[in-house]
Amino acid sequence: MSINDATVAENFSDRHVVIVGAGITGLAAAHQLLQQPHPPRVTIIDAADRVGGIIQASPFAGLDSVDESADAFLTRTPSAMKLCAAVGLDHRLTSPAANHAYIWNNSMHAIPSGTMLGVPGSRKAIWNTQLLTTSGKLRASLEPFLPRAVGRSTDSLGAAIRSRCGNEVLERLVDPLVGSIYATDTDNFSVQGMPQVAELLAQPTSLMRAAGSAMQKRTSGGPVFATPITGMSTLTRAVCDRIVEDGARVILSSPVRSIEPQGRSYVVHLETESLQADAVILASPARHTAALVKQLNNETSAQLQQFEHASVIMIALTISRSQWPQHLTGTGYLVPKPVQTGVTAVSFGSNKWAHWKTASEDMILRVSLGRDGAPMHNLDDKSLLEVALRDLRLHLGFDATPTNMRFTRWIESFPQYRPGHASRVESLDNQLNESSPGVVLAGASYRGIGIPACINDGQRAASRAIASFVS
Ligand SMILES: Cc1cc2nc3c(=O)[nH]c(=O)nc-3n(C[C@H](O)[C@H](O)[C@H](O)COP(=O)(O)OP(=O)(O)OC[C@H]3O[C@@H](n4cnc5c(N)ncnc54)[C@H](O)[C@@H]3O)c2cc1C
Repeated sequence: MSINDATVAENFSDRHVVIVGAGITGLAAAHQLLQQPHPPRVTIIDAADRVGGIIQASPFAGLDSVDESADAFLTRTPSAMKLCAAVGLDHRLTSPAANHAYIWNNSMHAIPSGTMLGVPGSRKAIWNTQLLTTSGKLRASLEPFLPRAVGRSTDSLGAAIRSRCGNEVLERLVDPLVGSIYATDTDNFSVQGMPQVAELLAQPTSLMRAAGSAMQKRTSGGPVFATPITGMSTLTRAVCDRIVEDGARVILSSPVRSIEPQGRSYVVHLETESLQADAVILASPARHTAALVKQLNNETSAQLQQFEHASVIMIALTISRSQWPQHLTGTGYLVPKPVQTGVTAVSFGSNKWAHWKTASEDMILRVSLGRDGAPMHNLDDKSLLEVALRDLRLHLGFDATPTNMRFTRWIESFPQYRPGHASRVESLDNQLNESSPGVVLAGASYRGIGIPACINDGQRAASRAIASFVS
């Protein structure tokens, strides 16, 4: 039953939904629940002293707010745009000032046009770039002639692309692009975890042709990314303000310790109080949720415990504009694994965002280090800076002299969707639904890490919580 079907029949004001986690997923769930004509009571709880979870910003280099993690969301999946509109931010959005980026593979190369997440959509896309060697180009050009079944039986993204397009397309194009979104190693990452590529592989045609026609269909124009002009955390704060206006209770600095079944409802235990709930949305990361569902379903808890996460470090730097190579006008670059020595990606913040303008016109860079299989967060700031400056010298060809610095460690922040992830999640959902109706898993650990996917998942969880009242 959809949330709309359910609402036609019922008044839920005597029900209570508790949401664990006030990241974008939990906030979207709360917002969706409160859109009902007769909504349930909603309480949202977070262990941290602020809402937003991974979405975080702070003053930097004289600017009021520079993102410490996500700096934008994809507009093609409309949920984030719609949520911005719902909380009155649609007129305060901006998009990147530049729309091209690079891959550094011993020198800087533009990401070839005519590729989709690194998958070539034509032979021209392969032959027009210096990023691939001649033998890599020849191998990639064979892709349309391979039997359709090649690469389609595996759920390893790396294996699928290697067997269809060759190692170079995977290592120099697809892995840097997908790897940077998930801080992952695509050889150990699920095809289904990257739905855009999964859809291409599911087409009854060559991968190249599927990518080509998908790109042709995408002629709608309009910017691909957007963000509130005051930073991504404006969105989480605005959603929080709205749900409070609509009656939600927000409890911060209060980790949920356990959830206990009690007849047809649940008791959610915090340190200082216990809350009775008719439904519980678990919008905390899988590794935290594992402990919370122990009393509900031991098997689900054990499986959630197995989920893996990668850690990254984001260093924001400013360097004098006079040091900046004029020809680098793009939004930043990615570094393929075979040539990585620490830095995985660099965002040229001041090229990307017109509003990140410091009084001294310095250039803001955001440097990412660490990924799945190559953790770096145990290094101290001094050592991290040394690695970052050494790699910047190698990649950009000059000794950057930072004038401001900010280090943010994102420990175990990127869920890793291993091959088989989608079926594992489906089975967890079913197990939990059977043992504990009304308890719902949501968030980046399960059905997509991007902000629009998290919003969709929060809204889906809200629908399932409501549906549990009427089933
Ligand atoms: C460095 C970085 C850059 C990124 N860049 C982008 C980007 O540009 N665009 C994009 O679309 N996505 C980006 N992402 C991904 C995206 O930001 C995240 O996937 C998304 O914000 C996760 O939201 P969430 O609500 O599912 O989880 P979280 O934000 O992790 O929220 C979960 C919340 O649960 C709380 N919690 C945990 N345990 C408990 C407990 N026991 N009791 C109470 N509360 C608890 C936590 O404190 C946290 O606030 C980026 C991620 C990172 C790490």
